[in-house]
Amino acid sequence: MKRALIFFSFVLFLACKEQPKEAAETSVSKNENTRTEQVENTFGIVIHGGAGTILKKNMTPEKEAEYKAKLEEAIRVGHTILKNGGTSLEAVEKTINILEDSPLFNAGKGAVFTSEGSNELDASIMDGSTLNAGAVAGVKTVKNPINLAKEVMLNSPHVLLSGSGAEQFAKTQHLELVDPSYFFTENRMKALERVKEKEKNKEANQTTAFYDPVIRNAKFGTVGCAALDKNGNLAAGTSTGGMTNKKWNRIGDSPIIGAGTYANNATCAVSSTGWGEYFIRGMVAHDISAMMEYKGISLKEATSEVIQKKLTALGGTGGIVAIDRNGNVSMEFNTEGMYRATMNADGQLTIGIYKE
Ligand code: ASP
Repeated sequence: MKRALIFFSFVLFLACKEQPKEAAETSVSKNENTRTEQVENTFGIVIHGGAGTILKKNMTPEKEAEYKAKLEEAIRVGHTILKNGGTSLEAVEKTINILEDSPLFNAGKGAVFTSEGSNELDASIMDGSTLNAGAVAGVKTVKNPINLAKEVMLNSPHVLLSGSGAEQFAKTQHLELVDPSYFFTENRMKALERVKEKEKNKEANQTTAFYDPVIRNAKFGTVGCAALDKNGNLAAGTSTGGMTNKKWNRIGDSPIIGAGTYANNATCAVSSTGWGEYFIRGMVAHDISAMMEYKGISLKEATSEVIQKKLTALGGTGGIVAIDRNGNVSMEFNTEGMYRATMNADGQLTIGIYKE
């Protein structure tokens, strides 16, 4: 009898203990769309090709069509991978490869020049299912830096490699290496000359240089991608040549996990573009994920708060593309424009350049 009484009390105790937890979970799932059950089998992808003062009046219809065609080509590559059941990581890498191989964007082939007339490339990638990440900074001979970032993540004990060491590692992974002259493009060289000319005429220091429109705009054009696959895994990646006229082996936000790239299956995947120093100081990509996680707010609310309020208040310019675990997408920027595209599970494609 005594034993039965103890057993009964124990069962009663467990039932009471469990109750508040269940109640709490129900109320969270009712309140926030970020906390609802994941939409099964959905997938989606979103990309950017840089943000900045991109104005229609400065663009020819031919140039505009060229940008849109390349964005579409890239996003369709990733979309097909996802549709066929491939991973978000693979979709991110292969999509970025298309943009890296195009001279239109400031990444890979189209990378901008440093003050010394060389090209130093940065990239990073993150897997939202494991929180594993890889990044490289200041590489000069790796054709597709995003591939090297992925190898760092998968085949090294490190997260971030730089310079000649990163290149040695690239050799061990049998990645495609090119002569530095591969990255020469006439346009980017002209941009460097213009910026240098401006700099000379103004005794510019770093701060005044940033406020000069020619100099300021010469530093945008990074590429990035965020994707959700059918298994509910999120991934993000970013690749860049950094900023025109950069000195002293400057490294921006793009290879910094949490600033230029972040992915977490519990929240979202984010790729940033813009004035890198501010994205590092604001830890922009991670901040968006953290706001969703800690405040229980939606992707839209988190990206709007971080870009329109926090980044803007700091004095930073640029934008992000992001996708959450339900396939909701955000393409938020505080500049005049951002090259961008998104495609959902139904195959609906949206491409944009300017502010809507
Ligand atoms: N965020 C990059 C950097 O500062 C530049 C860009 O996004 O265009 O290196």
